[in-house]
Amino acid sequence: MSSVTSGRSGGPGKGAVPRDKSRHLRLSVVAPCYNEQDTLPVFMDRLQAACEAAVGRAYELILVNDGSRDDTWKIIQAFAASRSGVVGINLARNHGHQLAVSAGLKLTRGDWVLVIDADLQDPPELLAQMLRTAAEGFDVVYGRRRTRASESRFKLATASLFYRLLGSVSDVDIPQDVGDFRLVSRRIADRLNAMPEQDRFIRGMVAWLGGRQTEILYDRDARYAGETKYTLSKMLRLAVAGLTGFSTAPLNLAVVLALAGTLIGVAIFLYAFVGYFFGRAAPGWTSLALISVFFGVGQLGCLAIVGAYLGRVYMQVKGRPLYLIDEIVASPDLAAPADLTNTSA
Ligand code: UDP
Ligand code: MG
Repeated sequence: MSSVTSGRSGGPGKGAVPRDKSRHLRLSVVAPCYNEQDTLPVFMDRLQAACEAAVGRAYELILVNDGSRDDTWKIIQAFAASRSGVVGINLARNHGHQLAVSAGLKLTRGDWVLVIDADLQDPPELLAQMLRTAAEGFDVVYGRRRTRASESRFKLATASLFYRLLGSVSDVDIPQDVGDFRLVSRRIADRLNAMPEQDRFIRGMVAWLGGRQTEILYDRDARYAGETKYTLSKMLRLAVAGLTGFSTAPLNLAVVLALAGTLIGVAIFLYAFVGYFFGRAAPGWTSLALISVFFGVGQLGCLAIVGAYLGRVYMQVKGRPLYLIDEIVASPDLAAPADLTNTSA
């Protein structure tokens, strides 16, 4: 894997801007880019202006090229060579939005981390307001969409259905109308990076991490250029990642079916028995009905048991910490115990 951190490896390196490599970074920005060659120049101008207004030069912009087939990577390389504060990451192939964001997050060094789409649907100018809100004492400030310009009805309807379904089965409260546009503290970013799960549904993982979280409302603009890169199959994959990652409710379906099957089985059993004694059943029907009821209910019951264990194995395999401590206070006469669950440094 090649990771470029100085902008001088590859690309037109001549006009590289000398900069102070040891400066303290107050902000890291992560932007996943997939075939965004037409939006990148405008995106960078607006984003850099917003970052400079908010934190001066104490920022890094991490642009993750997610296996684009257009000139996205060339443009990122040129940015890294000619502008200050740019880090480009070239993924080996298209891994999808969630993994592109994960790759960028892992390399962040700033005190705060902003995740933003590269298509200008999330306005970079909100950064200042997000930082101000965060300074009031929040770990996470996420953008909640008040309006969504030019999003298809189909997308709005399926998204709303999905979030309602997820809300009803999920163990954590995952906010509605919220994407991955958010500002998170170093602590949250470190904890997120330490979560080893493969199937990543970042907005759910951040919700799961808890801490002090708040929202700011914004109007989601139309895409600056090009088409959505979230095809139907990618949306479905994200939905399945969200549902299965934050709930084992689908596994409980076997339990529900087994209970329903038992009730129906008892009814059929009684019906078959009565029919047999009153001579109303065709020869052989009673035994066949009883055999199929017995095996049907038996199999569903066994599936329910397997499901219960599988759910537990699944949660264990995810390797998430059992709980996260935000803060420990102790009386002055006692040293506070170290938080061994805290994954952040
Ligand atoms: N993206 C990505 N990999 C993908 C799909 C999308 O890195 O496989 C990026 C894309 O370039 C954009 C962001 O993720 O910056 C959100 O994608 P998009 O705007 O297409 O999704 P939508 O806003 O339509 O849900
Ligand atoms: Mg978009």
